[in-house]
Amino acid sequence: MSTTRTTGTLTYDVFVNDPPPQDGVLPNGEPKRFSPMASTLISGAEDAVLTDPGMTTDQARALGDWVAGKGRNVTDIFVTHGHGDHWFAAGLLAERFGARVVASAGTIAQMRGSVATRPLLWDKVYTGIPPTEVTAVTVPDNRFTLEGHELVIVEVGHTDSADTTVLHVPDLDLVVAGDSIYNGVHMYLGQTVAVGGFGPWREAIDIVAALRPRHIVAGHQNKALDDDAERTIAETRAYLDDAEELLRTAPTAIDFFEAKIARYPEHLGRTVLWAGAAAIYGVREHPDDDVARTVLSAWL
Ligand SMILES: [Zn+2]
Repeated sequence: MSTTRTTGTLTYDVFVNDPPPQDGVLPNGEPKRFSPMASTLISGAEDAVLTDPGMTTDQARALGDWVAGKGRNVTDIFVTHGHGDHWFAAGLLAERFGARVVASAGTIAQMRGSVATRPLLWDKVYTGIPPTEVTAVTVPDNRFTLEGHELVIVEVGHTDSADTTVLHVPDLDLVVAGDSIYNGVHMYLGQTVAVGGFGPWREAIDIVAALRPRHIVAGHQNKALDDDAERTIAETRAYLDDAEELLRTAPTAIDFFEAKIARYPEHLGRTVLWAGAAAIYGVREHPDDDVARTVLSAWL
């Protein structure tokens, strides 16, 4: 007979890493700058679980020092989806804390895909990405625990990339949403060309909403904002509605880019906005070109 004991309550803290340095300018002349990336530390009395540990060696050091200051034993590092900005530093953090890396089977396949595109994309844009061997493992039934509290990996399908997941922590009324929900940051729309639009992303948002969280940690967020679930869900839906309208009315990628900035002047992450616009209009204007190549080249 085995018993599961729940001792005490969980807490969570969020660390928002600064984007790594980058060359180049956007169509409006401002320097390119990637979006801030949020990592969550879910803590029990002694152990903790870390999510989405960032991309570069510098980010790993900053995040790792912050985690070390919390004085917990990090048992698991959970990765929400395969995009390199969320996990290329996982190996460094796993080694530093002796933690296991956990993801869904679909996400692990996407992580391997991001390793394959490293020389074509990530290493062309950013320096300081450490070795990125995929060591992540799945867990039975997509569930694991922290001091007896259940953590549930919920597969939400295609959002800003394929096979994305969120981490539901029922005892905290928390969803760590990866890139299914954004918070004060431009959403990456480029890979929606692979699924013909925003329908799958809207379904993913519905799945998150059905979990009825009070708190959502968005993978990309303005750290000045709160983590109110109702607001972030509503704003993520509205951003897609706006984008859909502007994709009908804005004749070029630059028009789309400028119209989005006019509607969301406070949003961070204009480099991601531009990469998405260039991908969508690139596919629209060159339908016979290789789609994956068009989406990648929109970053360069
Ligand atoms: Zn991301």
